[in-house]
Amino acid sequence: LKAEWDLLKEAQTLTLDGKEFILGANIGTPKDVVGANDNGAEAVGLFRSEFLYMDASELPTEEEQFAAYKEAIEGMEGKQVVVRTMDIGGDKDLPYLPLPAEENPFLGFRAVRISLERQDIFRTQLRALLRASVYGRLAVMFPMIATVQEFKDAKAVFEEEKAKLVAEGIAVSDDIEVGMMMEVPAAAMIADKLAKYADFFSIGTNDLIQYTMAADRGNERVSYLYQPYNPSILRLVKNIIDASHAEGKWTGMCGEMAGDQLAVPLLVGLGLDEFSMSATSILKTRSLMKRLDTKKMEELAQKAVNDCETAEEVLALVEEYTK
Ligand code: PEP
Ligand code: MG
Repeated sequence: LKAEWDLLKEAQTLTLDGKEFILGANIGTPKDVVGANDNGAEAVGLFRSEFLYMDASELPTEEEQFAAYKEAIEGMEGKQVVVRTMDIGGDKDLPYLPLPAEENPFLGFRAVRISLERQDIFRTQLRALLRASVYGRLAVMFPMIATVQEFKDAKAVFEEEKAKLVAEGIAVSDDIEVGMMMEVPAAAMIADKLAKYADFFSIGTNDLIQYTMAADRGNERVSYLYQPYNPSILRLVKNIIDASHAEGKWTGMCGEMAGDQLAVPLLVGLGLDEFSMSATSILKTRSLMKRLDTKKMEELAQKAVNDCETAEEVLALVEEYTK
């Protein structure tokens, strides 16, 4: 088994019939890159940049952020690193950035909504990212995008900071992909429109499920509604993936669902391009994918999306197709 694991670590991620997928790691600090590489990650699909803000007693400077991003990007040695810009708010607050108390923090002032208003904070982060981009392959994405206008506004700030750095004579990579998290149902419904502007999507199922089912992801009383296999969620996921492909873009997933062994067959069938998960789930997922036939999984996904009424029916179908 040890030998099989060692081989898997170096191997590409291929299905039984040879279709290629990318398995990435979710990381929270640059140090996590070591674990990502040790577990055979082909990318970092989600670098939650919040740690820089949460582990500090004041706003992190451009230099501090630059050092952290550079370390992560260099550590991945040319493999893509997707950094998500600050996702503060909801249940994550900063002692030194007091925000007015809200009745519904998860529906309130958070993530890109803060970045677009506090552009001083946003621009500092983007400058640090842009400067770090020359040390490997960086991609940037914005959390909680709900509308086309929000994406355009965030992208415009990114382009402005890029142009400023270039004018200052500071080296910046010319092929940084700029994408967005897909975690708000409104965005998932207009994925075809957003795909014209975003270079890629990354589906944040943790939030997408909570907002679609109207069930707080941390509230046990309503946890029965937290249903990754519900056809409603699968239909949104399918809509997002299909919309990206129609524009020649790609879709990843960085919510917990991407590393769920029962969801992987469905996601392979739906054509998800990249799966990002905790590093320790990568090898078992690569091993599972080796046993899956794409055509069969496509049939499974189609039935789940079109014919099933409940999450239980979907799960039964997954079992039937992966026996
Ligand atoms: C998600 O919402 O699925 C996600 C990956 O982001 P977070 O869990 O950090 O909200
Ligand atoms: Mg989220």
